[in-house]
Amino acid sequence: MPTKKIVLKFPPRLVEQPIIYKLVKDFDLEFNILKANIMPDEEGLLVLELTGDEKKYNEGIKYLKSFGILIQPLSKDVVLDKEKCTHCGACVTVCPVGAFTVDEKTRKIVFDNTKCIACELCINACPLQAMELHF
Ligand code: SF4
Ligand code: SF4
Repeated sequence: MPTKKIVLKFPPRLVEQPIIYKLVKDFDLEFNILKANIMPDEEGLLVLELTGDEKKYNEGIKYLKSFGILIQPLSKDVVLDKEKCTHCGACVTVCPVGAFTVDEKTRKIVFDNTKCIACELCINACPLQAMELHF
């Protein structure tokens, strides 16, 4: 059975709904939560690994989309252009998974690509376009 990694962004009204449970119950999909950022009254972000029959998978995705959930494959690579970065810190505050840290000694931004879930929030937040999306 194929396994796919996807990023889900869903509106605050859905944060407390048992949507993922329904994927198991109604579409027979197995899931593994890789990353989650779910706060009451805020947009939810979930990175899932879904395993199951292709047809059921497609039906499950259709079901999620019917709620207005945005879905994208986790197949993008986000890269920091060190030449452009001025270490302003704008990306640190928007990243939902803590992929950026500030080096205590140098006060410079350190980017850990392995934590990144390609949500693209830092790309929009960076005033210098130092965060790039590679496909
Ligand atoms: S927002 Fe852009 S310029 Fe600022 S620290 Fe992050 S990557 Fe560097
Ligand atoms: S795209 Fe940027 S904000 Fe989103 S997880 Fe990756 S580093 Fe963090």
